[in-house]
Amino acid sequence: MPARDYYETLGVSRDADEAQIKKAYRQLALQYHPDRNSGDKQSEERFKEVNEAYSVLSDPDKRAQYDRFGTVGMTGGGFDPTDLGFGTIFEDLFEGFFGGAGRGQRTRSRARRGEDLQYTLEMSLENAAAGLESRIQVPRFEPCEGCHGSGQEPGTKRKICATCQGRGQVRFSQGFLTVARTCPECGGEGEMNPNPCARCRGEGRQRAERLLKIKIPQGVDDSSQLRLTGEGGAGLNGGPAGDLYVVIRIRPHEFFVRRDADLYCELPLTFPQMALGTEVEAPVLGGKARLKVPPGTQPGEILRLRGKGMPGLHGRGRGDACYQAVLEIPTRLTAKQRELLEAYQHASTDESGPLLASFVERMKKLFG
Ligand SMILES: [Zn+2]
Ligand SMILES: [Zn+2]
Repeated sequence: MPARDYYETLGVSRDADEAQIKKAYRQLALQYHPDRNSGDKQSEERFKEVNEAYSVLSDPDKRAQYDRFGTVGMTGGGFDPTDLGFGTIFEDLFEGFFGGAGRGQRTRSRARRGEDLQYTLEMSLENAAAGLESRIQVPRFEPCEGCHGSGQEPGTKRKICATCQGRGQVRFSQGFLTVARTCPECGGEGEMNPNPCARCRGEGRQRAERLLKIKIPQGVDDSSQLRLTGEGGAGLNGGPAGDLYVVIRIRPHEFFVRRDADLYCELPLTFPQMALGTEVEAPVLGGKARLKVPPGTQPGEILRLRGKGMPGLHGRGRGDACYQAVLEIPTRLTAKQRELLEAYQHASTDESGPLLASFVERMKKLFG
């Protein structure tokens, strides 16, 4: 059996927008809904197909994936729901049937919490150390200006649902059984919004771009989340707003890698610098500082500038800037350098540090 084409199933073109897909789905779901075609296996099958197609095409990610990897080569013959004059009639029927949000008497009043939103804020390590006040622009739903979020046309009232008399449930008999079911008219709310706000169609909210001022505390780490309670999407029908999560992304630093409150940097040094000791310029956050390299510094040794790391969260102390000594051996020597190094080697034949002494000792023990 060839793989089914979801666009064909819903009868929409490949470039159909969200609204067209939704409309086509509503029409077909209504047509093939099991409640209307009791016992008809073919309708049931179609209903499943339609739902499957809609679940993919209504999800932008899934749809993109399907477009890339799914079947292609539509055979046409689909119909464009927007061409057909009865779209609105079906929509009305559909709303009565499933209790979806719509117009007039059929509008539900169910209050729902708004969406939680996520905003990614990128910043430098310097900003993360200093703390930051920033303005971010967040696209979100805000309470409708027309009805202040109630979803009702100003001056109108909600009324008790006529179908369930405000109980939110309807009872019906099936043989010996009496079954209670959520009222399809009001969705269990027990009340209706007969005059939905014209501006927001009763949803109580509208799309907006909101400029928010946020304060990032000192010492935030990569992937930290700040929760701004109630700054997410506005609720539906007067429900509470969701939360906004600001996720911190710290850009990689030119020199430093962070480990908790400490900052690490590799510091290349020459053999004479490490042997004799010196003072070098080293990077610190927002500038540079003098760093003492003591005589006899070993490769890999960590030199610290105390308190030059990241501030601890909640204002507790400050980490260190840590510099790991990396010995850089010259790969090319001038004649003069070679001469001096040979002289140095000659002068140090009988000397050995603790590492070499221990190595020679162990070799002697094992091999005699
Ligand atoms: Zn409104
Ligand atoms: Zn009801």
